[in-house]
Amino acid sequence: MTAPPVLSLDSVVKDYVGEAGSFRALHGVSMDVADGELMAIMGPSGSGKSTLMNIIGCLDSPTTGVYRFEGVDTATLSERALARMRNSGIGFVFQSFNLLPRLSALGNVALPLVYAGLSRADREAKAQALLTQVGLGDKPRSRPSQLSGGQQQRVAVARALANSPKLLLADEPTGALDTKTGTEVLGLFKTLNREQGVTVVIVTHDPEVAKATDRVVRIQDGLVFYDGPPTEAALYGHAPEVVG
Ligand code: ADP
Ligand code: MG
Repeated sequence: MTAPPVLSLDSVVKDYVGEAGSFRALHGVSMDVADGELMAIMGPSGSGKSTLMNIIGCLDSPTTGVYRFEGVDTATLSERALARMRNSGIGFVFQSFNLLPRLSALGNVALPLVYAGLSRADREAKAQALLTQVGLGDKPRSRPSQLSGGQQQRVAVARALANSPKLLLADEPTGALDTKTGTEVLGLFKTLNREQGVTVVIVTHDPEVAKATDRVVRIQDGLVFYDGPPTEAALYGHAPEVVG
């Protein structure tokens, strides 16, 4: 029996309902992501990338359509089961790092391990190992404000890895970094994917980032219009599928 995809979207529609009425942000997105993939989601601002990531990360649910994580229809899960899945199955990395400023690098990485029920000593040992893995083994006591942007993002990646997730979701992870630092952080995702088999989905505007992945999904106005290898046309937004 073959394993189900890590995640599977089937005709996912997302409507945001507000006082001014309803706005359809996703118009029926379908895709499967297999175990061990390294992929990029691209598209102009407002095209629905973050909406899609929120659904993939179980932070939000589809209005209609089905979202399955490891074969399980997420609509059938209780809030508690969803939260458990999110905490142990999925790691999140954001453009703005989202570190807690009053905690050290070690404290930030160790935080998600509280929910795993580890002792303080075990949490700190694991957090130190994760910091070493992202190249910051010598900075456990530094506060975020004492670290560069690239170093802060490395701490955020270490934190995302704390509970050994199956899936790492990164929304514009290099968006706040200079090119060289961004390339280093990207290299970290690539190593995690290649050496530890972590499935990685990265939202990016940057063709250079997407080029380093194996698969590009382009969305526009809430619809997928390219899903395939990172060809020049796919990276620069004039995929033949659009005009052809
Ligand atoms: P992207 O990440 O590609 O820039 P988003 O997924 O953030 O796009 O947004 C897609 C569309 O949905 C945009 O038009 C945005 O204004 C709208 N949108 C996003 N979040 C909400 C919300 N909470 N309420 C209403 N509209 C929203
Ligand atoms: Mg966004």
